[in-house]
Amino acid sequence: MATLTQNNLDTLKACRYCPMCRQSCPSEFISYRESDAPRGRAILLHSVYQGGKEFDSSTVQAIYNCFLCGACKSWCSGQELGGYDIPELIKFARRDIVSQGLAPQAVKQMKDSLVANDNTANQDKKSSYTASVTEHTAETLYLLGEGVNYTNPEIAEAFIRILENCQIYYTLLKDEPTSGKELDLLGYREEAREKAKSMAGRIKATGCKTIVVSDPLVYDALKNDYPEWGISLKGEVLHVSEYLLKLVCSGKLKLKPTSDKVTLADSEFLGRNNGIYEAPREVIRASAGEHFAEMQWNHEYLQSAGEAAFTFDGILFDRGKELGRKISQKAEDIGAEIIVTLSATAKNNISATTGLKVMDIAEFAAIQMV
Ligand code: SF4
Ligand code: SF4
Repeated sequence: MATLTQNNLDTLKACRYCPMCRQSCPSEFISYRESDAPRGRAILLHSVYQGGKEFDSSTVQAIYNCFLCGACKSWCSGQELGGYDIPELIKFARRDIVSQGLAPQAVKQMKDSLVANDNTANQDKKSSYTASVTEHTAETLYLLGEGVNYTNPEIAEAFIRILENCQIYYTLLKDEPTSGKELDLLGYREEAREKAKSMAGRIKATGCKTIVVSDPLVYDALKNDYPEWGISLKGEVLHVSEYLLKLVCSGKLKLKPTSDKVTLADSEFLGRNNGIYEAPREVIRASAGEHFAEMQWNHEYLQSAGEAAFTFDGILFDRGKELGRKISQKAEDIGAEIIVTLSATAKNNISATTGLKVMDIAEFAAIQMV
């Protein structure tokens, strides 16, 4: 069995007695089970790591039911004291579960698909947006991520319209590979690092100086995981919202005003993991001005859209609408007409639950582009 870090131990000790972030946990919201709340997970893992219990199937399931959204961290006043970190503890436990050969079948299938096909759902690479692109060297590289590449190409098309309108010479990666992020979140660190090395080689071959990323998981991998794993990238890494803001500030991208009331669904991996809260707001305000409005839960208290919700109760996660409805309800409460999102997952989960317009930040900017 792997060795716990001091932070893991502190988290186990503190969280098993504490219900204070329970109301923020989206997996507990879905199942109403104590084992799917932060405290429940800490109790189960304390039994394993301090009590000598083996991982049983119900414990493994509870660990894979976590969405790694970080809401528990945001709501924890112990953050200032000990930095209790449930998502790190869950990722540690998943690696341990994998090393013991106890990962659920659905997780193993997802891993096999990522290793063989560079996507989580065994999709044919030929069906991806980047299957038909021509790759070349360029100063700017645009990375889509799995959601945009396979299910939401309209987001890529919108961003490419902006790049071309601003006369920016760019490239994409043909058959864009996985960043390795999903593999790491599922507990397969070695396989994740191999994919990360391969992705870094592909990025380097383009000669790019700026890497612009749509997907929050890919962004988080490039910004945080790659340096931690000793994989260096020469280019500056920016989320699409940060890049759009640069274009707006430089005067290259001009947005026409809108009188629609616009709100933003923050991203858990961009916001909580990387502090990206203001760039998308400033892009929206460049068009909507005073018509931009905040939903009740925003910034670090954002509601999870399920960006890293892969499996639940042993099967592929299929309850994204329940997460999306919590967000669209808040947007409707403030009379918003447009909800701007920052990931394909958020766009799909929210738009399935409301008649409001739901669009990615790239689509919003492309529509408002002069
Ligand atoms: S993360 Fe903080 S609030 Fe949540 S259970 Fe642990 S100590 Fe309590
Ligand atoms: S990371 Fe999210 S889903 Fe997991 S225990 Fe914390 S709040 Fe719940």
